[in-house]
Amino acid sequence: MARIDLVDLAHSYGGNDAPEESFALKPVTMTWRRGGAYALLGPSGCGKTTLLNLISGIVTPSRGKILFDGVDVTTQTTQTRNIAQVFQFPVIYDTMTVGQNLAFPLKNRGMPRPEIDARVAEIAGLLDLTPYLSRKAQRLTADAKQKISLGRGLVRSDVAAVLFDEPLTVIDPELKWQLRSKLRALHRDLDLTMIYVTHDQTEALTFADTVVVMHDGRVVQSGTPAELFDRPAHTFVGYFIGSPGMNIVPAQVSGREATISGHAIALNRSYDRLPAGARIEVGVRPEFVEIASPASNLLAANIERIDDLGRVRFAHVRVGDTRFSAKVPPGFSVSGNNAGLVFDPSRVHVYADSLLVEGE
Ligand code: ATP
Repeated sequence: MARIDLVDLAHSYGGNDAPEESFALKPVTMTWRRGGAYALLGPSGCGKTTLLNLISGIVTPSRGKILFDGVDVTTQTTQTRNIAQVFQFPVIYDTMTVGQNLAFPLKNRGMPRPEIDARVAEIAGLLDLTPYLSRKAQRLTADAKQKISLGRGLVRSDVAAVLFDEPLTVIDPELKWQLRSKLRALHRDLDLTMIYVTHDQTEALTFADTVVVMHDGRVVQSGTPAELFDRPAHTFVGYFIGSPGMNIVPAQVSGREATISGHAIALNRSYDRLPAGARIEVGVRPEFVEIASPASNLLAANIERIDDLGRVRFAHVRVGDTRFSAKVPPGFSVSGNNAGLVFDPSRVHVYADSLLVEGE
């Protein structure tokens, strides 16, 4: 497995002369460590597949470099880069048995037969494919075929990285749950660098130790699931991750407070030096705003709806023209539409031009 460095990497399908704003991948410099479990997360069209295809060598970048363990591989083919890939739909040989399918990438690399057999047995065991090893792939369900694809991607231990592009799309929802955690366990067992593309935050957060979030062709944050939750570096990360997403509301700085719809709420001391009067956005996760009975010292809100998610209830409220999601404290009984909002100041973040303003 390799450490992968992207150096000022960018790609435009419209040629190099196109304005940078139109690039499918805007310039990015970052490192993917050896043996990491990465998820590449973002909505449809944000550039995930483009970035994955640049790493694998399917697409040659318009600009920048890709290094594997310090070696420039920018112009190398996928095969020379020694990358394994699993796509959205099964890529297998229907007329071969499951065992032959799993053995194929190893045979291709000239591995001795006894070693092939041992590795195929190990991978089949990990993916619960052992009972099917001598069955023809064409006789199996779509789920099983995709498991074979996963197995083919994971069977070689000498690859630089394994890249997965939305690999659970065709999998039945119930099995999807199992396979998500299985892939996480496989990463631990197999000790490979893995990059997993998905638009599904649950899939990303279950699989990865580092989640790379993309938005509009840019990598906007790379961090652990906890970092993305606790300190979203960009407003997009705030509302894309979390359910419901982060509240992002326009505000104005006044002293050590932010004024939202004419009401001042306290900011963390680390924001002491913000210029008075500055127009900012305040970001606070619904988990850290609670509704309470209306009171003059609380931001007044109008309750529109309550979602009861079993262990937690979220109120969807309106403050002037702004919509908020807020936690309903356990035992709080909602009467009428009016409520006050209580903020945890240590969880209120400040954003300027969509980027997190770091406190002192
Ligand atoms: P999805 O999840 O829908 O596949 P994605 O995040 O993987 O989306 P990409 O497929 O990388 O996004 O696409 C990024 C942008 O590049 C989109 O605007 C897309 O239309 C464009 N694009 C992707 N492939 C090509 C191509 N071969 N030629 C021209 N434009 C392309």
